[in-house]
Order: sequence, then structure tokens, then C-alpha cells
Amino acid sequence: MSYQHILIAVDLTDECHPVVQRALDLAASNGAKADLVHIIEPMAMAFGGDVPMDLSLLQQQQFDQAKERLVSFAERYEQLGSGQRHLVYGQPRQEIHQLATELGCDLIVVGSHGRHGLALLLGSTANDVLHGAPCDVLAVRLKKPS
Ligand code: AMP
Repeated sequence: MSYQHILIAVDLTDECHPVVQRALDLAASNGAKADLVHIIEPMAMAFGGDVPMDLSLLQQQQFDQAKERLVSFAERYEQLGSGQRHLVYGQPRQEIHQLATELGCDLIVVGSHGRHGLALLLGSTANDVLHGAPCDVLAVRLKKPS
């Protein structure tokens, strides 16, 4: 069985490079399409959901900046070809699952820091995405920052 459509979740940091590279290698060997997705967590979420001020202007700036970053991030990967770039507001797990379902993806690729002990209790995006995923999930091990 080969993969047809791969969704690559990126936080737009350089650390994500091995995640994209691994996903693109898989896409090439499977003849699959590969899309990138970056999730913007709404500011209100970061402040605990209840903020007594209008954040719409700040959110628009946050969106515009993320859009520019996603475009220049994607430019580094010629192999992405006609794969799409998705920018979505929300909670990473929920939005990545929903997008994978909508696009009919059969593999989600994320980075994993291989946390353990207390850090594991704080949770990771890879763990989060794995639970209840609508398709296979590949967690690419990321090196610890030295
Ligand atoms: P973390 O557990 O938050 O350190 O993130 C590990 C991996 O989850 C990253 O390498 C990305 O693959 C993915 N990820 C984290 N944050 C986001 C985000 N905002 N949008 C899309 N993917 C993300």
C-alpha cells in the first residue's frame, strides 16, 4: 500500500527541516502529493480564552506574518511542487485532523522531541495529533537542541 496524499505539519522553525525532508522523501517514493499546514493559535487561546479587548487587528497582523513566513518556508522546498500550503486558525490537533479529513490525506507527518518525564506531562503536538487521528501519523524524531 502506498500513500497518496501526505499532510506535513510545520511550526515554521528551522527545526522542522527533517520533518519536511522525511515527508518529501516519502512522497517521492510513494508518488504522493504533499501539502504543508501551519496552525495559528488564536491570541485569545494563549490568554486563556477570555480577553477584555478587541484582538482582531493583532490577529490580522499575526495572520499576515504567518502567511509570509509560510510562503518563504515553502520556497526552500522545490520538491513540494504543486502541493498546497494551508494556514489555519485554531488548536493544532483539531485543525490538523479536520484538514486531513477534508483533503482525504492518508498520512500526517509531524516532528517529535521524544520528551519524557515531566516534559511529557506537559504534552507535545505529536502526541496530541496521534490521538484520534483520521489516518496514519509519522512522528519524525527531532534532535534535542544542543
Ligand atoms: P511541539 O511538540 O510543539 O514541539 O511540536 C512538534 C511538532 O509538531 C513540530 O515539529 C511540527 O511538526 C508540529 N507543530 C507544532 N506546532 C505546530 C503548528 N502551530 N502548526 C503545525 N504544526 C505544528
